[in-house]
Amino acid sequence: MNAALRELIDALSRGEALTEAAFEALIERRDAEAAALLRRYAVKARKAVYGEAVYTRGLIEISNHCKNDCLYCGIRRSNANVKRYRLTQAEIIACAEEGHALGFRTFVLQGGEDAWYTDERLCAIIHALKSRFPDSAVTLSLGERGRASFQRLYDAGADRYLLRHETADPEHYARLHPPEMRFEHRMRCLHDLREIGYQVGCGFMVGSPFQTAKQLAKDLAFIQAFRPEMCGIGPFIPHSDTPFRDCAAGTLKLTLYLLSILRLIDPTVLLPATTALGTIHPGGRELGIEAGANVVMPNLSPVAVRKDYALYDNKICTGEESAQCRHCLDARMRSIGYHLTVDRGDVKRTTIKGE
Ligand code: SAH
Repeated sequence: MNAALRELIDALSRGEALTEAAFEALIERRDAEAAALLRRYAVKARKAVYGEAVYTRGLIEISNHCKNDCLYCGIRRSNANVKRYRLTQAEIIACAEEGHALGFRTFVLQGGEDAWYTDERLCAIIHALKSRFPDSAVTLSLGERGRASFQRLYDAGADRYLLRHETADPEHYARLHPPEMRFEHRMRCLHDLREIGYQVGCGFMVGSPFQTAKQLAKDLAFIQAFRPEMCGIGPFIPHSDTPFRDCAAGTLKLTLYLLSILRLIDPTVLLPATTALGTIHPGGRELGIEAGANVVMPNLSPVAVRKDYALYDNKICTGEESAQCRHCLDARMRSIGYHLTVDRGDVKRTTIKGE
């Protein structure tokens, strides 16, 4: 590692903001020594805020119907090989019931953009979850909607919203999505969610097709400026029924490197070690935690539908019951000196950077 790279890493660890060019240099000139130093700083920063506690979110994949045609995604509308399903309110409540008994205090409802889930239906589901589990947070990850809809869902009790920006570079965005999907609209949604009062999550795939160091630097600069409460990143993994079937997957190393940088950009950010990371490497989630992540999101979906919610090939944990997933992750975290907590796991943020 040369002196300039070391200086960038030290600056980041002191809480200084970096320019886009500096982020680009940090990515382009990375080596094993730089990764190890970033990891040490990131773990120290995370421990100062969250200790050894790992937050859990119970993921309920409510629908794999989707009106969109994202080129990377296995449940895109033009994939005719998907067996489509949607969960009813009763099924969603039953998943949460089981999750609550297992110690989950955040439920993430994720799905394709499925018009069947009207505001009325979603408000009823959110209301039912919040009245039955008043100690739990409800997170939505249902794609782009209008501002009035986001407001209604928030008023019904939703606490958080995950909407990965996917890439902060409009030209890159256009190569990953069909023309009717607009970069500007996705960004508008993120700003609307923030203004309404949600805790907001953005994020991107590591190693998505055509991605360059410059584009990753744009992602980091965007995240530094937007300062999301949550940030979801994981490797891109090809799905065999998509136009990107022959593209290479994102790497473990680069994902871990970026997790450490994100932790230092904001020591308080809620940063998951994702299922995709666990899919490209058997110890991926543990390594993610050891690189600075502090959240895991095991699956609470009914086992009968899990294999049908395939955004990418070879997704892990599709055959296991929720309890098995929870216990397996608990053991995995203990094996590296961490533990899962029974807690809503809100962001610990008292001061705003730069104030
Ligand atoms: N429809 C919702 C939820 C999307 S699925 C939305 O639009 O936000 C959640 C995330 O999975 C996506 O934001 C995307 O970043 C990721 N994803 C999709 N396809 C993937 C793939 N092939 N490999 C890795 N991650 C993928």
